[in-house]
Amino acid sequence: MSENKRIVVLGSTNTDMVVKSERIPTPGETILGGRFLMNPGGKGANQAVAAARLGGNVMFIAKVGSDSFGREAKAQFAKEGICTDFVLTDAAEPSGVALIMVDAKGENCITVASGANGTLSPDDIGAARDEIEKAVVLLMQLETPIETVSCAAKWASEKGVRVVLNPAPTCELPDALLKCLSLITPNETEAEKLTGIKVTDEASAAQAAQALCAKGVKRVVITLGSKGAFVYEDGHGETIPAFKVKAVDTTAAGDVFNGALAVALTEDNPLTAAIRFAARAAAISVTRMGAQTSAPYRDEIAKGV
Ligand code: ADP
Repeated sequence: MSENKRIVVLGSTNTDMVVKSERIPTPGETILGGRFLMNPGGKGANQAVAAARLGGNVMFIAKVGSDSFGREAKAQFAKEGICTDFVLTDAAEPSGVALIMVDAKGENCITVASGANGTLSPDDIGAARDEIEKAVVLLMQLETPIETVSCAAKWASEKGVRVVLNPAPTCELPDALLKCLSLITPNETEAEKLTGIKVTDEASAAQAAQALCAKGVKRVVITLGSKGAFVYEDGHGETIPAFKVKAVDTTAAGDVFNGALAVALTEDNPLTAAIRFAARAAAISVTRMGAQTSAPYRDEIAKGV
């Protein structure tokens, strides 16, 4: 790891509070007999942890509340080797929390209280501008305010930093932001929401990718779950298949994929090789339960899936 190969991840951090029970209660109903689990989550944090475990020199820019969840999350990032100088604390808003109910069939119901994630402002990240401009890759998602994502993308792209956006959860993206993107990584649903083109095969994936490139994005990777990932650059598209594994939990597959992709890009791999690395990491993650808990370490990639 060297200072000049830094990945800056800007995004959300949440604590996922999960109750598993026979069924999900109807409004007004109380059900006893649930089992409680608490897991670190949030797309930004998941991607930062995935990148750090794979050997990336990661700085995480995020905001937590002045509470025990926030303090614990920050301490955990530091344990993962992530630079937390810009994991800021909001004095008023609590740390982000996701309340998740899961029934016996695995169906879930989720409410997210974004809390401090929602107050990460362009002013807040001003002190980190130098770090953003010095990074090799800036990796972001859409669980923090779009003005802040757009601001960081502008600073980074003006200095030639590769800006990677995982547009999840999708919202309408300003053209000015799209023009700053070196790479966008939607899944099939997100690609359709962004372009209006339903991705069902290689031809429709190419059409969706072309629509994004027409708005100024340089390269596009559309992730296709167990089918792999469609990559489009310089007017050429191809599907890179996923690794065949027995999936037990696909939570955060996309987050591990994006974190790994950022690492491979900082190591100067061509995009197709970077995608193979990311697909290998994501395939390992789907064989395990959880989000951050399922992210593999670098030596596991070498062993293969
Ligand atoms: P998201 O989690 O954002 O919806 P995807 O489901 O498209 O993203 O998954 C991201 C990547 O993770 C895929 O491109 C693939 O490489 C890998 N992946 C996802 N599901 C599987 C699976 N069942 N088997 C192997 N790899 C998978």
